Amino acid sequence: MIDPFGRHISYLRISVTDRCDFRCVYCMAEEMTFLPKADVLTLEEIDRLGSAFVRLGARKLRLTGGEPLVRKNVMSLFESLSRHLKSGALEELTLTTNGSRLAEFAEPLARLGVKRVNVSIDTLDPAKFTEITRRGKLDKVIEGAFAAREAGMKVKVNTVALRGVNEQEMDDLVAWCGREGFDLCVIETMPLGEIDADRTDQYLPVSLVRSRLAARWTLEESDKRTGGPARYVRVAETGQYVGFITPLTHNFCESCNRVRLTCTGTLFMCLGQEDSADLRAVLRQGADDAGLDAAIREAISRKPKGHDFIIDRRHNRPALGRHMSVTGG
Ligand code: SAM
Repeated sequence: MIDPFGRHISYLRISVTDRCDFRCVYCMAEEMTFLPKADVLTLEEIDRLGSAFVRLGARKLRLTGGEPLVRKNVMSLFESLSRHLKSGALEELTLTTNGSRLAEFAEPLARLGVKRVNVSIDTLDPAKFTEITRRGKLDKVIEGAFAAREAGMKVKVNTVALRGVNEQEMDDLVAWCGREGFDLCVIETMPLGEIDADRTDQYLPVSLVRSRLAARWTLEESDKRTGGPARYVRVAETGQYVGFITPLTHNFCESCNRVRLTCTGTLFMCLGQEDSADLRAVLRQGADDAGLDAAIREAISRKPKGHDFIIDRRHNRPALGRHMSVTGG
């Protein structure tokens, strides 16, 4: 799969559910209306689509959400997709999780060949954690991250930088991740979906986080790339990596190798644009594999050059109406 700008599309992120057991303040509103079940792809449909992408050359699949580990029977999906790891067609099967159920699933995931997991942790303060997630328990999440490490997986902690919320904690997060052997990725807030808060209040430029960290830590430039938009530095004092994702202040589109499938089977060729392809309709109209492949290729031929996120200060509206939980973060 090569798009019109010569980029090889080798990475598919799949949101397996829009549901989540947390309600992170920057991600969701307190009262969320989730999608009717009939709109959401079945696990068999997700397997069929994921497998089509693998057939067309995707080397990496990431399951996300919503919270992937709250989807009923999600392990059967991991299991069926893991056949592509065994055959060698797929290099990596991985997930992004809030960690609430990771303690339970770490072992079976590792057994299926999942080697890396991203766990979202925005703060190490238990009370603040419950406030940000509106219901999460930090100790459960940390237990999950430790269980993943024990099962042999590499853990990367995702932290969304939030002004006035966790900005004073970045040093502690770097130190903690360093001690625990985790990499850390600091993410800028992206204006996706209606939430209850004012996004311009939450916005903390990751460039500022980086320059503050540089005052305390020795950040060595590194060419480590994980196929994603993060730019990594190595923290000399801990030996762990810290990545920075700055969709608002830095354009990472030129090397974009990814597309995203929502839990309703809509393929977004760009996180920051509305253009999409309805692959659920193709599936449910009874397309055979050749028809499905043709629909995917056609979508890839429409992948745009880049996006242009802005937090609109006058209207304080999200740049895009859909939530990260639908598109898959
Ligand atoms: N439930 C899983 C989790 O918590 O990691 C997977 C889905 S979640 C949408 C994926 C990542 O997106 C999380 O690290 C979350 O913090 C981040 N995220 C959600 N909304 C965001 C936003 N508006 N801007 C930046 N990151 C966001």
